[in-house]
Amino acid sequence: MVRPQRPNGPHVLPQEEHTGSYYAATRNDLTTYSELNGEVETDVCIIGGGFTGIATALTLVERGHRVVVLEQNRISWGASGRNGGQLIHGLGGSTRLSKFLNDEQLWALHYRGNDIIRSRVAGYGIDCDLKTGYVEVAIKQRQMVGLEADYEAHQRRGLGDHLRLLDRAEVTALIGTQAYIGGMSNDLNGHLPPLNLCLGEARAAVEQGALLFEQSEVLEIEHGETVRVRTAQGCVVAQKVLIAGNAYHRLERRRLSGLVFPAGSFIIATEPLEDDEIARINPQDLAVCDLNNVLDYFRLSADKRMLFGGRCNYSGREPRSVEA
Ligand SMILES: Cc1cc2nc3c(=O)[nH]c(=O)nc-3n(C[C@H](O)[C@H](O)[C@H](O)COP(=O)(O)OP(=O)(O)OC[C@H]3O[C@@H](n4cnc5c(N)ncnc54)[C@H](O)[C@@H]3O)c2cc1C
Repeated sequence: MVRPQRPNGPHVLPQEEHTGSYYAATRNDLTTYSELNGEVETDVCIIGGGFTGIATALTLVERGHRVVVLEQNRISWGASGRNGGQLIHGLGGSTRLSKFLNDEQLWALHYRGNDIIRSRVAGYGIDCDLKTGYVEVAIKQRQMVGLEADYEAHQRRGLGDHLRLLDRAEVTALIGTQAYIGGMSNDLNGHLPPLNLCLGEARAAVEQGALLFEQSEVLEIEHGETVRVRTAQGCVVAQKVLIAGNAYHRLERRRLSGLVFPAGSFIIATEPLEDDEIARINPQDLAVCDLNNVLDYFRLSADKRMLFGGRCNYSGREPRSVEA
């Protein structure tokens, strides 16, 4: 048999373990899954074991479909295992979706992700320190205007009781800084360590019958009556394929190149804070985001570290200062 070649161009090396992050050091499930060897037949083959791939796999097996997930490194190795951990309502692509859904249907999707996560954490007993409470903070007056409009939109849908518009002094009381001119709290949002959520969902998917393979980079997708998804040591024969590889894959370049690009943001974890420090800077254990496009976001970890994220680059490379 001729082994498929890797697509040309720069590429993430296969078979990496998790990055040396705080989340990886505090993951509470050390399960690993074997590499794909030989041929497996399934209904849906999912390429990529992050939130997109794993949440979809769980949904499909819950509905009785056979699913195989192929992850080139470890489950949740990518963005899903190293993000801000902020559980925030919202919806991307609403302009496109508005061709198919009316306003109320679109609005219902804003909190659908939060609801799914909460019900999975409770239903499958996922151990991920899920916290409730969030505040968006404004630096500019026009950001306050946006918050007021959002508040009214929530009120119109009967959700106003969950939100509170805040002036500068009220934000200062919540997070101990006068840097913001105001904000809005929302107790429908919250925060959690994302790697532990994704690992918990992966375990649930396996318990429901999904097959997960790690260190199994997909090198080639061969289309036909069924689809053949090839790795170095094996092949999945599927009715359908979902590419959930985020900005890390280079598959189907003719159709997909240029649609996704890397956007890097970086998070620092402090030493655990003292109780009096927490009382000053985040006594209610809220997730916090400012409203800039390149935003700062922060929250406390379960062991009381400040996890502070910000900055952005689009090169796909880590800045040298990250090691400092
Ligand atoms: C710093 C940062 C902070 C963020 N903060 C938040 C936040 O607070 N809240 C929030 O909701 N979102 C946040 N996000 C966004 C969120 O992390 C992503 O939207 C989400 O994780 C994307 O999930 P995914 O499964 O699509 O991609 P990923 O998690 O990146 O998973 C893709 C997976 O596909 C695998 N893969 C790629 N190519 C192949 C191949 N050929 N074969 C096999 N496997 C392959 C990769 O190894 C990877 O594991 C943040 C993102 C970043 C980077």
